[in-house]
Amino acid sequence: GVFNNVPWGYVPRGGGRVPIGREVDSMNILGLVVFAIVFGVALRKLGPEGELLIRFFNSFNDATMVLVSWIMWYAPVGILFLVAGKIVEMEDVGMLFASLGKYILCCLLGHAIHGLLVLPLIYFLFTRKNPYRFLWGIVTALATAFGTSSSSATLPLMMKCVEERNGVAKHLSRFILPIGATVNMDGAALFQCVAAVFIAQLNQRSLDFVKIITILVTATASSVGAAGIPAGGVLTLAIILEAVNLPVEDISLILAVDWLVDRSCTVLNVEGDAFGAGLLQNYMDRSELRSSVPELIEVKGEAPLSSLPVPTEEGNPLLKRWPGPAGDADPCEKESVM
Ligand code: ASP
Repeated sequence: GVFNNVPWGYVPRGGGRVPIGREVDSMNILGLVVFAIVFGVALRKLGPEGELLIRFFNSFNDATMVLVSWIMWYAPVGILFLVAGKIVEMEDVGMLFASLGKYILCCLLGHAIHGLLVLPLIYFLFTRKNPYRFLWGIVTALATAFGTSSSSATLPLMMKCVEERNGVAKHLSRFILPIGATVNMDGAALFQCVAAVFIAQLNQRSLDFVKIITILVTATASSVGAAGIPAGGVLTLAIILEAVNLPVEDISLILAVDWLVDRSCTVLNVEGDAFGAGLLQNYMDRSELRSSVPELIEVKGEAPLSSLPVPTEEGNPLLKRWPGPAGDADPCEKESVM
């Protein structure tokens, strides 16, 4: 944590006590994120000369993903031993299982309240339409989210549902839903807060007001950074635990029960996006801008994610397409993201 363990010292002339910064032995995540952003902007500014490094990072990223997919195969065995180690450490094993059960219940209850009451209420207040009819329209997509635990995998079906059953215009859904699937994660933010408090209680650490606010802020930020894949939110949970000085190893407990929590989490993540699209549609209907926008092509429900149209380079400065080895111009296969 950046602000943890800051000692208090005296400033001779001012007379007041001010915090004196000193180096803390932990990962500087904020620094890393800021550097990555600034470095990306600098590479972009270099133009063609920077492309070599961009390609390097892209293939580095691809190689890392391959490594991760290998690790995922033996992860269950690793988690087994991590959890077993935790159980051996505990004096009262029954308490661990009881508190894990309460953690799961708390997450599911929070998701139910947010998904069935809070989000529909917001939709109703802004549109004065029945939110549950809207929910019924996207029920297949929600079931898919529950089944796959992945917002990204649900994206094509969600587009089809909101367009064909809830009357959201294609140009809106295709703008708002992909952004929502990567950035807007209500379920992940909610579960990360619960998980952080759970780990604090398990280690008998008390959380003061500042730490609770830190959890809230970092959970919001880290849910934005979480990928729309199964257990994406568990990885960024490490940022929150680091920020409030909680043991990161305890993530293994969260991971052990994540197969269940992640499902309701993903349902909420995609539900929030869909309501966002619905709200935007309602706004557009009101301001009568809809008629001036050209129609887009149909979305096929069974179409794989990769066959969706990608924005052109002028439309999105972060997307760059590389020509294929045989000079073919398949826009989806050869697209790479900086
Ligand atoms: N599985 C979630 C999703 O795809 C991300 C998470 O783990 O919270 O939306």
